[in-house]
Amino acid sequence: MSAVLSCSNLSVSFGSFAALSDVTLNFEDGATTALIGPNGAGKTTFLNALAGLQRVSSGTIRLDGSDITVLSAHRRARMGMARSFQIVTVFPQMTVLENVQVARMRAHMKVAVPWRTLASFPAVEREARAALERFGLADVADVPAGTLSHGRQRALELAIVLVNAPRVLLLDEPLAGVGRAELDHFADLVREVSARQTTILVEHNMDVLMTLARDIVVLVGGQVLARGGPEAIQADPKVREAYLGA
Ligand code: ADP
Repeated sequence: MSAVLSCSNLSVSFGSFAALSDVTLNFEDGATTALIGPNGAGKTTFLNALAGLQRVSSGTIRLDGSDITVLSAHRRARMGMARSFQIVTVFPQMTVLENVQVARMRAHMKVAVPWRTLASFPAVEREARAALERFGLADVADVPAGTLSHGRQRALELAIVLVNAPRVLLLDEPLAGVGRAELDHFADLVREVSARQTTILVEHNMDVLMTLARDIVVLVGGQVLARGGPEAIQADPKVREAYLGA
């Protein structure tokens, strides 16, 4: 299999502090990779660097073989990179449907389209409704997004990132704040979503994570400590010492 996304010798510094040092990783087409590591390991910085939200100090990032290291986040989004955040980032006053419509428009229009004119783009509405259907949100299409439960807002975020059928999906703690009752259902959604394209996800819940990804990268102190399958990672003495606290 070929690498869709790769980075070589990637470093990000904040002043004299190195948040990422010399990270070289390949992500294969269609694979799901989980990124784990203690707080401050550089996981969010890494996702931001890939998405173009964080300038890198040195190194190279390639998407489908093209050097994207200095491209803006917007350009990368158009090339098929989608990123979700640890905190819910829907527009609370807009309806659930409008949130997805706006996301669909934004990826494809060169100029911003006033959201009040959304009704004049029926194809966008059709695609947005299909995305809502897929994420079990069709019944709440017309309610303000801010009135949904936290779990359903997280599902909406997935609909928002997936409506543009990205090549690479970057998910930052997609299960953060999801209650126990919704966790299994939501983990199923994330599993289904990540099965469709190359996915890199940060997740703290180890039990869930082991069911989501067969490829795990352990970051510690901004460096790659280990990479492997769940069993190998759990058994790795270096990882146990640095991360699992054993
Ligand atoms: P993780 O997601 O693994 O918890 P982060 O990528 O958020 O780690 O942070 C890595 C390190 O970089 C942390 O020590 C953090 O304090 C530092 N850091 C992150 N962003 C900035 C910033 N904008 N300015 C200075 N330091 C930062």
